[in-house]
Amino acid sequence: MITQDSIEALKARLDVVDVVGNYIELKKSGANFKAPCPFHDEKTASFVVSPSKQIYHCFGCNAGGDSIKFVMEYEKLNYPEALEKLASSYNFSLTYTDNKHNKPRSQVMDKLNTWYQKLLTTKQIALSYLKDRGVYESSIEKFGIGYAPTSNETLNYIKQEFLSMTEAVESGVVGYDGGRNFARFIERITFPIHSPNGTLVGFGGRTITNHQAKYVNSPETPFFNKSRLLYAYHHAKQTLYKTKEIIITEGYLDVIMLHQAGFGNAVATLGTALTQEHLPLLRKGEPRIIMAYDGDKAGKAAALKASKLLSSAGFDGGVVIFLDGMDPADMVQKGSLEELSRMFREPKPFIEFVLDETLSLYNISIPKEKERAMHEGIAYLKTLSAILQEEYKSYFASSLGVSPSFVRLSNQTTNNPEIQPIQKHTHKDMWELSLIKTTLEHPEFINQILDVLDPSFLQFHSREFALALEEKVDTPELMAILVDESIIPLKDENSLRAELITFLSRHYERELKKINMKTDISFEEKAFYIRKFRGKISSLKQGVLK
Ligand SMILES: [Zn+2]
Repeated sequence: MITQDSIEALKARLDVVDVVGNYIELKKSGANFKAPCPFHDEKTASFVVSPSKQIYHCFGCNAGGDSIKFVMEYEKLNYPEALEKLASSYNFSLTYTDNKHNKPRSQVMDKLNTWYQKLLTTKQIALSYLKDRGVYESSIEKFGIGYAPTSNETLNYIKQEFLSMTEAVESGVVGYDGGRNFARFIERITFPIHSPNGTLVGFGGRTITNHQAKYVNSPETPFFNKSRLLYAYHHAKQTLYKTKEIIITEGYLDVIMLHQAGFGNAVATLGTALTQEHLPLLRKGEPRIIMAYDGDKAGKAAALKASKLLSSAGFDGGVVIFLDGMDPADMVQKGSLEELSRMFREPKPFIEFVLDETLSLYNISIPKEKERAMHEGIAYLKTLSAILQEEYKSYFASSLGVSPSFVRLSNQTTNNPEIQPIQKHTHKDMWELSLIKTTLEHPEFINQILDVLDPSFLQFHSREFALALEEKVDTPELMAILVDESIIPLKDENSLRAELITFLSRHYERELKKINMKTDISFEEKAFYIRKFRGKISSLKQGVLK
């Protein structure tokens, strides 16, 4: 673990304007800096960086935080990764509590990767294969495509470069069998596979010598888990966070060609089906998911399985099926880009796809098969939230040709929480906001304020006031107040006093009106409150706060 001391020392060196400015262009605006938000699509600049508060905040999407948070969000890194990234760009050495974690990563894979890439430039047959598929020179570079030679050549290279054979075996590039080592990738075009943060973790290899396995991947290692990784995710993440959409294909070349054609949010599974283990990665950024699969039997079956998994887990999106033996790579090569965009714009929604595919597996003109189709459809619908069950009940009934009353579903809700929309204020009360900013910037005034009022006194911003009292300064609500230069905090005790008197007078006038209108309390109670509020108002008039 990174020691707290070194985290604090690193933080002290960071300037939010400098850190954010390394990624996006900031324009000075008053005491702050502004830019179009890198976390949501917009033309106006709602993204504000405040040097005095050392935070950023977007008024459009509520993104916000300090320098480290920005790097985490922008680079899609976790906290320690963001610290390491910042430390290395500011030439700062972090210290670690545990030396084991500080062991440098083996260099074998990186070295081999560079070597493979160099070999590709001399391997004509591999280059012509890529060229025939329509892969540009620039894509070869971007995706680090290489060429792995014979097993002996690879083993010799490892020895010549004094790389550790043990590490080569551990990282999966070399196998061990019957007392001798062998290279995993033999006469294959290599596609380096990275973790979501861009670390090389394995390879995919396509044969060009008609080896029986067209594609092979690295074996499972501590860093390489096929059911968790997605090919090119580290290239796609920027775009997918912005467009809120991810395209999942079945092949490396599909991804490369789609990126080439401007679909920068394309990724691929690593020769496996989409699994439960992929879901946490897919959840990041909450993108809509488009599955782009082949129209053959295997492709459709895989798309059906994936659609069930994703729709039951509450993901939004749909399926695009490529017919006539085409795949996304072919479409790009053929130049059918408009058709491709149209297909991605109008995928068949997961639930409709699952229901239609399920029905297509049965001959529903035979009553017994129709019954089975209905059971299967109902079993699937029950995995969805109550509202979706209700929505798709009649769709399914009509496809099956039965009355909706036949489709009996449970009313049970699943654990998919409905996404809460961001609460927008209908009214910005500048006085209340100013009071909140005062408590944030002058905590020494808090007691004085709390002596005379509590959050319930605020008509519009009681929530933010409560957050301010708890010092929850990293919430979007409070960050919005902190960076908003139009909200002026009260500067001294005298002006605070004067403002509180005006505010409380108005407050008690309102309370007095309310109590006068009340019909559900006793006369005595009413009289008590009226006396109390009148008393407050008259002492406030004389300048007495308490
Ligand atoms: Zn934003």
